[in-house]
Amino acid sequence: MPNNPAQAAVTPRIPLCEPYLNGNEWEYVKECLDTNWVSSGGSYVNRFERSLADYVGADHAVATNSGTAALHISLMVAGVQAGDEVLVSSMTFIAPANAVRYLGAYPVFIDAEADYWQMDPLLIKGFLEQECQVQDGLVLNKKTGRPVTAIIPVHILGHPCDMDPILELAEKYDLRVIEDATESLGARYKGRMLGTLGDVGCFSFNGNKLITTGGGGMIVTNNQSLAKRAEYLTNQAKDDPLEYVHHEIGFNYRLTNLQAAVGFAQMERIENHIEAKLKIAARYGEGLSGISGLHPMQEAPWADSVQWLYTALVTKRCTP
Ligand SMILES: *Cc1c(COP(=O)(O)O)cnc(C)c1O
Repeated sequence: MPNNPAQAAVTPRIPLCEPYLNGNEWEYVKECLDTNWVSSGGSYVNRFERSLADYVGADHAVATNSGTAALHISLMVAGVQAGDEVLVSSMTFIAPANAVRYLGAYPVFIDAEADYWQMDPLLIKGFLEQECQVQDGLVLNKKTGRPVTAIIPVHILGHPCDMDPILELAEKYDLRVIEDATESLGARYKGRMLGTLGDVGCFSFNGNKLITTGGGGMIVTNNQSLAKRAEYLTNQAKDDPLEYVHHEIGFNYRLTNLQAAVGFAQMERIENHIEAKLKIAARYGEGLSGISGLHPMQEAPWADSVQWLYTALVTKRCTP
């Protein structure tokens, strides 16, 4: 319910995803407060990282203070540099495009396919084959002369992109793959958890995501050196555990123990959150079926969506 009933009467709104804090959040946060471990030290950061890594089946997880920060650092550890071009879903929240620009690289927007509204592998193929040329091992955009070095498939609305053709193209053209799985924690592509299919995967725990820490993010990878580097860069690029020695520009992107305590409690109940989402989607699906000009979101045969944000395509103008 909105706070202001008068306003609610005028514009009734259904929030896209409300936080559900009905597990051990209070208990774990109280423990942080009682023990004074409120900042980035304390056991919950590691426990939250471990629980998420185990859940998606990744070897390593590094917590960050937002999903956008996770994307920024992921692009850095994947080796994207200033002046590079990165293929990004055009239908997306702006964060991945912003993260590309933080590095002085350029997003090249790839449109969605018509069936499931995810990044279209055929358009990636067309771009690489027709608008790029390979020269000295570099994939160069013929128009701009810039090297194309990475792809960010954004799994939008809780549903996976068609990853096999994307991974094949990445392999063929030697491009890094950074999955933006921020909207799709728990969703699967051909049985495999999103976030673990590319080189690096990113999650978000913003207030409107499937699970929340108020704000936060996570980087997952099976590559130990990428994980180490992500940890290093999110922690001010500190080269000595005691002394303040730095050889690179680092970032203060750490998650706090307080936030991680909430996240750890949320992870204990993630299956309940997904179950609720699937129920809500089924209910919408029933209620909205058979209406001309309205096309409820479909689930691909290779997908297990978590239905983070139920969506329908409107192709006919509605007359009130
Ligand atoms: C939510 C979201 C992010 C990350 O958002 P933060 O608020 O920084 O955690 C990134 N990409 C997409 C597609 C998102 O929906």
